Amino acid sequence: MFGTSWRVARIAGIEVRIDSSWTVIALLVTYSLYLRFSFLYGSLSTAGAVGLAILGAVLFFASVLVHELAHALVSQARGIRVQDITLFLFGGATRARVESRGPGDEFVIAVVGPLTSALLAVLFGAIDLLGRGALGRPLSGMFGYLAWVNLLLAAFNLVPGFPLDGGRLLRSAIWKGTGSFGRATRIASTTGQGIGWLLVAGGVAFLLTGNLAGGIWFAFIGWFLVQAARSSYQELQLRHLLRDVEARDVMARDLLRLPPDLTLQDAVDGWFMRYDHGAFPVEEHGRTIGLLTLRGVRRVPNHRWATTQVRDVMVPLGDQVVVSPDTRMDLVMEKLEDGQAGRVLVVDDGEVVGIITSSDLTRWLQRWRTFERRAV
Ligand SMILES: [Zn+2]
Repeated sequence: MFGTSWRVARIAGIEVRIDSSWTVIALLVTYSLYLRFSFLYGSLSTAGAVGLAILGAVLFFASVLVHELAHALVSQARGIRVQDITLFLFGGATRARVESRGPGDEFVIAVVGPLTSALLAVLFGAIDLLGRGALGRPLSGMFGYLAWVNLLLAAFNLVPGFPLDGGRLLRSAIWKGTGSFGRATRIASTTGQGIGWLLVAGGVAFLLTGNLAGGIWFAFIGWFLVQAARSSYQELQLRHLLRDVEARDVMARDLLRLPPDLTLQDAVDGWFMRYDHGAFPVEEHGRTIGLLTLRGVRRVPNHRWATTQVRDVMVPLGDQVVVSPDTRMDLVMEKLEDGQAGRVLVVDDGEVVGIITSSDLTRWLQRWRTFERRAV
């Protein structure tokens, strides 16, 4: 769901990231605020309107961040580790390590987001009303605008389509009623897709009546919701499927090993250029002692490849993410998503017997789907 993202802060141990798509929306929001403020307050200079627009945009995104932090902090208070918060095209997303443990957890974690946005709306509204004299019209007007935006954020997030907060509330209610997490997710996700399509239809209706901006906006949000609902359900299905699969079933076992005293030049010519692997185990006296990765080789300037040995560049085994052959693949997938290395080593009896990368998992899934279809 996410493309490239940058790490910008760390709050209460939670990593805050910004998705690349967010820069587009940040510019759009600032620009539309500038248009709005210079239209509403004719007394403002251009610089004044730009400054107010930037301040408004910063407070807008701070509001989104506070909404997400509320989810994250309540999750953590309930013992569910939060991976990170990513601000992207339409706001924020909080990635929790584990799906909520029960409908009660899910309800509280979901409801606190819209509640926080509603509180922010009240706060900004109060600043607008009480500070009108002291702040002057344009500044207090900006706070009034932020109050509306937060109210809208609360309302939109309460739409009962998964993965929006409202969809999570719906899921927790069905989960509580039926006792089935899978069925609850399926219903909430179907509702999410349904509401998404309704928004797309609304957008098309707007377009037909000549409201171009409104039409594109509705259709875009609707399409986003359809995709998000679909992909979060697929991810859940994938996790279920992988629970019955072990690391040994997915790992690449045809490991080609390198001697440690080889030069990098020979490693590149004889291994990296010949085989489609991003890393090779390094073996000495029949034991694996490390891993030579493509990233490691790239860090050494080309002119030193002929004089540098594999031993000096390899990553020691101790620094690798290691699992045993019978580790469940849903857990391996979590490690793959978590880790910086992008690979997990499968170790049996102290010896590396396989490597799993995301592309190994993808290829395995493709094979699985081929046979699944044949079976049906
Ligand atoms: Zn939320």
